[in-house]
Amino acid sequence: MSITKSDLHAALKKFFGFNKFMGLQEGVVESILARTNTFVIMPTGGGKSLCYQLPALMQEGTAIVVSPLIALMKNQVDAIRGISNEEGVAHVLNSSLNKTEIKRVKEDIVNGITKLLYVAPESLTKEENVEFLRSVTVSFMAIDEAHCISEWGHDFRPEYRNLKQIISRIGDNIPIIALTATATPKVQEDVIKNLGIVGAKTFKASFNRPNLYYEVRSKSKNVDADIIRFIKQNSGKSGIVYCLSRKRVEELAQVLQVNGIKAVPYHAGLDAKTRTSHQDKFLMEDVDVVVATIAFGMGIDKPDVRFVIHHDIPKSIESYYQETGRAGRDGGEGHCLAFYAYKDIEKLEKFMSGKPVAEQEIGQALLQEVVAFAETSMSRRKFILHYFGEEFDNETGEGGDMDDNVRFPKKKHEANEDVKLLLETIQNTNEKYKSKDLVNVIIGKENALIKSHRTDEQAFFGKGSHKDNKYWMALLRQVLVAGYLKKDIETYGVIKLNDSGIDFISKPKSFMMTEDHVYDIDQDEAN
Ligand code: ADP
Repeated sequence: MSITKSDLHAALKKFFGFNKFMGLQEGVVESILARTNTFVIMPTGGGKSLCYQLPALMQEGTAIVVSPLIALMKNQVDAIRGISNEEGVAHVLNSSLNKTEIKRVKEDIVNGITKLLYVAPESLTKEENVEFLRSVTVSFMAIDEAHCISEWGHDFRPEYRNLKQIISRIGDNIPIIALTATATPKVQEDVIKNLGIVGAKTFKASFNRPNLYYEVRSKSKNVDADIIRFIKQNSGKSGIVYCLSRKRVEELAQVLQVNGIKAVPYHAGLDAKTRTSHQDKFLMEDVDVVVATIAFGMGIDKPDVRFVIHHDIPKSIESYYQETGRAGRDGGEGHCLAFYAYKDIEKLEKFMSGKPVAEQEIGQALLQEVVAFAETSMSRRKFILHYFGEEFDNETGEGGDMDDNVRFPKKKHEANEDVKLLLETIQNTNEKYKSKDLVNVIIGKENALIKSHRTDEQAFFGKGSHKDNKYWMALLRQVLVAGYLKKDIETYGVIKLNDSGIDFISKPKSFMMTEDHVYDIDQDEAN
């Protein structure tokens, strides 16, 4: 039976009450109904859930939705039950169910009542569950938060690595739908490879959030006062302040309260009742501000969060994007203000020091991007979107002037000779260095690695010593974003030349470099 566009719209209206599909939803739904492997990359709030819920409701059999978060699964199941008036239409299968409940779930599936079955990846590894699912009709498998499969995602879960094998045990030719809001090219590649869905129809929405204003400020020891001032200037508006540690969350919430701001703390160390009550207060607008660790926000759907402040810089651009993404979901104003001190980066590095080497390398590479983002003076939006593999022209693109760097531009100067020197150095060293070592070669600073290659004996060693390390790092970042260079992910960040970079060496063009921010305040007491 072929499904027409008007059938689709009728189903959308019937099940969800919506008149129109949002963004790329319609194409995704059609792709799933055509039983094609499908990969959906959409930012949070893009409407991913409907992409698999609607085809599941329209088809024979049960769609299995793998999701890492039990709390989120429960919300989704409740929502689906709400729209269908049939309790059994959606179920969760996990270890918290008792025998009677499991029996009921299985009966509903066997009887064709259950259209969506949410499972955590660890439940799927249980033999008895796999055996059961083999015996029933599965319409498709949806892998939510698919970035969990990749060590380059912000939330790697080893159990996700077994999914492909489990899916093939459940049945042959079950279509796979992967969904994520993490857009880096490397994560995408890992998802496709690990789930074995080469050739999947891919739907990638833009990650541009034109209504968000991005700002980074230097973090001084007066950061609390800066935050209070900002909140007071935005009084009556809802906002989230993210801190790294639970202790800081508690302290800052108190400081805000003492200063007459209606604020509550939120972190995983608080008991469940307190957490729920604080979250509800925020949703019901009894308080304006939640001071929180990253434990807060997953699945929070408050559309009118007007600001997100980072008291501490996050450990990756993905985290920053996710967390700031909670602002302005209604399309209205959303101010994203991050406080940055290099000391905080060192703190994050220290956290990683006990971890396995590969994990540290990845963590380092992700952190370097955060440093680059904080210190850059180019369009922040362009930087973020470039990170996610998206081209953005901030002269013409939506929201192109919505950040501190574009509004208050730094001076620019012609730097094409330095660009040429940088590119030549990469060529002369056979593209083997990461950014820090490359800059060391340019300024003529030797270290064990450089000496082991005898690079310090070469004529080009130290050719750029008329400028300092910071200058070259800044130039390198700008040349990267301009597309003359690329960072090789497999080697955790070795810098390589693109074709346009090779062309530049023989035919240099104008390159207007923007001066970077200098964060040189004494940050000893900042925390
Ligand atoms: P994501 O999972 O991508 O973060 P959600 O699935 O939670 O996004 O959807 C975000 C919001 O958009 C939800 O409130 C949802 O009800 C709403 N939504 C989804 N699709 C539509 C649509 N076609 N029309 C109107 N609202 C929609």
